[in-house]
Amino acid sequence: MEAGEQVVLVDGKGRHYLVTLVAGAQFHTHTGFFEHDELVGGEEGTTVRSTTGARYTVLRPTLADYVLRMPRGAQVIYPKDLGPILVLADIFPGARVLEAGVGSGACSLALVRAGAEVVGYEIRPDFAERARANVAAFLGDEAALRYRVEVRDVYEGVDEQGLDRIVLDLPEPWQVVKHAEEALRRGGILLAYTPSITQAVQLRETLATSGFELAETIEVLHRSWHVEGQSVRPDHRMVAHTGFLTSARLLGPIAGGLKAAKVPR
Ligand code: SAH
Repeated sequence: MEAGEQVVLVDGKGRHYLVTLVAGAQFHTHTGFFEHDELVGGEEGTTVRSTTGARYTVLRPTLADYVLRMPRGAQVIYPKDLGPILVLADIFPGARVLEAGVGSGACSLALVRAGAEVVGYEIRPDFAERARANVAAFLGDEAALRYRVEVRDVYEGVDEQGLDRIVLDLPEPWQVVKHAEEALRRGGILLAYTPSITQAVQLRETLATSGFELAETIEVLHRSWHVEGQSVRPDHRMVAHTGFLTSARLLGPIAGGLKAAKVPR
């Protein structure tokens, strides 16, 4: 561990704290404090004790640790949905992806980390800046070269051409369908995250009259379990709802359309 590095400290109760190691600094909690210098030069997994004897174990943050604790402007997409987004949108190294809006950059982090070349459209300059800073802080300056954010309204149009994927997290994704038909290559995928099912339905209605086919809408339920001795059961609490994921592929315009072909006449 080096000074300047972001680390996660895990306490005896499993609580996580995201901290940047600074030479000469102290980590303070209700259990007292310890010196960052005790960790600098040490290895992941090292455990230190605070002035009252509480234990803290140091680890490098995973993407999920970082996303849940990084500085936020807008609400982030949670890790439970980030994994499925990468698979549903079929993100691959070198994929040319348009993302809108970028918000705090949680989804951007997942896309860039998976190897995509990401252009983000974000209407709020402060969020654009926050997302850039979060991506560079977690993935480093080299990965950040594959991430560009433009401050603009995606409803007004998309300049990119021949994109592989478009990933949307904004209030009216149906307003992007027409632009996506122009900007994606054939076979390309559009994916939208929407908190409300009425948004997903309106998107599906727009997709149904577009060159997109193979539309699907899913939600991801993630229930953790308590596993301790004889007590093995689902946890009492869960995040019951975050958002719906709708994806579709650009195939059209195809005479007759795939959907039409499935319906017996
Ligand atoms: N997916 C992001 C969170 C996005 S929040 C994350 O995981 O961190 C939704 C964002 O969309 C907000 O930042 C909002 O400013 C932006 N936005 C809303 N309408 C937009 C539009 N028409 N064009 C571009 N960005 C838009």
